[in-house]
Amino acid sequence: MKMTPYSVKSLLATTPLLQEVVVNGWVKTFRSNRFIALNDGSTLENIQCVVDFEQFDEALLKQIATGAALRVSGTLVESQGKGQKVEILVKEIFVHGTADPETYPIQPKKHSLEFLREKAHLRVRTNTFAAVMRVRSALAFAIHKYFREQGFYYMHAPIITGSDAEGAGEMFRVTTLDARNPPLTDTGEVNYREDFFGKETNLTVSGQLEAEAFAMGLGKVYTFGPTFRAENSNTSRHLAEFWMIEPEMAFYDLDANMDLAEDFIKYVLTYVLEHCGTDLEFLEQRLLQEEKSRPQAERSAMPLREKLQFIVDNQFKRVTYTEAIDILKNSKPNKKKKFQYPIEEWGTDLQSEHERYLVEKHFQCPVILFDYPAKIKAFYMRLNEDQKTVRAMDILFPGIGEIVGGSQREERLDVLRQKIAVLGIDEKELWWYLELRKFGTAVHSGFGLGFERLVLFATGMGNIRDVIPFPRTPQNAEF
Ligand code: ATP
Ligand code: MN
Repeated sequence: MKMTPYSVKSLLATTPLLQEVVVNGWVKTFRSNRFIALNDGSTLENIQCVVDFEQFDEALLKQIATGAALRVSGTLVESQGKGQKVEILVKEIFVHGTADPETYPIQPKKHSLEFLREKAHLRVRTNTFAAVMRVRSALAFAIHKYFREQGFYYMHAPIITGSDAEGAGEMFRVTTLDARNPPLTDTGEVNYREDFFGKETNLTVSGQLEAEAFAMGLGKVYTFGPTFRAENSNTSRHLAEFWMIEPEMAFYDLDANMDLAEDFIKYVLTYVLEHCGTDLEFLEQRLLQEEKSRPQAERSAMPLREKLQFIVDNQFKRVTYTEAIDILKNSKPNKKKKFQYPIEEWGTDLQSEHERYLVEKHFQCPVILFDYPAKIKAFYMRLNEDQKTVRAMDILFPGIGEIVGGSQREERLDVLRQKIAVLGIDEKELWWYLELRKFGTAVHSGFGLGFERLVLFATGMGNIRDVIPFPRTPQNAEF
């Protein structure tokens, strides 16, 4: 009889002893010609498979090396050794595929994250990346679960967009024109009327505008999809392709928007604390090891899980931009000229060094900054009575900086048209967006949360390239 294979996870958790079992996986280590540590990705832990080498061909045993794929059958028993509760007494081994120890790069030793980025097709076989990717998957699930429970509908915003009102200058063009010989207009410019869509098109930088249209019919919606930014910022927090969660809610003002964002983040972090214990514990240990080699001052005060719990248990501090500028102006690093960008006057945009000072030094908890100067924020944000500030809010996290950017949207047609005019955006570009204000307009709000920044925070990893399967960054689109 052909037996259904078990996952390692179910073998370790629920399978009764003395059962005949089959399991597939990859060899982590093979010790003393006797002990195979087998892992199939279902969990961080391995199943130990005990081989009586006298019963097997030497040729077969030779094929069992780190990285080889095996199917193992045998009896599940209580383990004789330390370190695991159960093990398999092996009766049969089938080698799906070998891995030559001379050339297989993922050997059982510590590899640097930089080295592993060059091996992105294999790095998910390491404990660290497998743990990160399982947490990433759990977070994605928790996000859908949260919104569903809150009565939101999931919508898919288009990936190819014809509007360049947002993010002009940092978009990736989508075209089928021949780059060497494009059709030209009479004035010598590229004639996009002959392009596939009959106009200039780009990859989207945000699904917000389309989500707004849907919120004005479905009430509460969210997008969760890829977004693209051709910004040439080689930082540890920027990708050229990243995933964004964008809820958009009719009849929500800025306060309701902030309440939702805070509740949402706490919910998904609680979810991973409850469901990814083994992986988080591993990542926490990894971090503690790594931090030992760093100067005391740069070490984080809390172990990973404690840090996540701290976020869940404490209220985010809500502060206006104006208050934040006062704090920054009078801060030690500003007075001692330690900021790369000194804070001199109201109206300047905050850099990540300022955001991190507020969160990590001054408030020592997540901060929601709101009511920003209109000049440094997007055209669609609702203008306040003071005519100077808009109903914007950014959520700032320790170690990350900005994790959420959101706002109450401008729902008044005349005010929106004025803003567009001042910015020199062509109204024709936004005709449908403006019609949303003409027909049944209402107060509404939303925000965007960068998924990879959330994964960075939840896993304690230091570089955004290590929390997405195959990162796209300037000069890098391998794999
Ligand atoms: P930043 O100032 O950090 O570049 P932003 O102001 O450009 O962020 P928004 O346009 O408000 O960001 O986008 C919403 C969210 O998307 C941000 O809060 C952040 O979490 C995430 N995000 C923005 N740009 C990137 C990027 N290049 N890579 C990964 N995540 C990003
Ligand atoms: Mn940016």
